Amino acid sequence: MSASLPDETIDPNAPVANMDYFMALEFKETICPVVQRYTDGLLAGKIIGHRCSQCGLVYVPPRGYCPIDVLETTEEDEVELADRGIVTNYTVVTPVQYYGQEATEPFAKVSVLLDEPGGMLSLQDVLEVPVEQVRIGMRLEAVWVPESDRTVEEIGNRSWGSADGCILGWRATGEPDVPPDQFNDRVF
Ligand SMILES: [Zn+2]
Repeated sequence: MSASLPDETIDPNAPVANMDYFMALEFKETICPVVQRYTDGLLAGKIIGHRCSQCGLVYVPPRGYCPIDVLETTEEDEVELADRGIVTNYTVVTPVQYYGQEATEPFAKVSVLLDEPGGMLSLQDVLEVPVEQVRIGMRLEAVWVPESDRTVEEIGNRSWGSADGCILGWRATGEPDVPPDQFNDRVF
């Protein structure tokens, strides 16, 4: 290999020039079997998690291990999770109008602690609730995409907590809020 010589026609002291350049990259990721079980579940309207037999924590999507106990989890540890839960935290996003941004109004992304046996889905959309009314302790239920329209194309091996393409978002159940002291120690 030979190193190329510096191009002497380029003035190193010239100001930096910028240009707009948009490109698209397409790639396909092979989904690992443990995530495949999760995506198959979503397509069938089920949220699948793994419950660690040692500490009892529920991982969704399943990881195939519990990082706390350094323990492998398998299909034997699978649990079907509730599609209802509690808002444990949220972020209100005020959209900056960068290229490709479709949202124009502030919107909320919430983490939902699922009812027993547990598990947490993060970065979920809230439907039908004004953003200023989103709050911790609020009870929500999943709004599923109609079965024939579901897709898991957006879910990859690193999509922790995502149900994009299968769960449209979450709407308020109208039940009373749950006080934080009832779920603080279940959030991780
Ligand atoms: Zn564990």
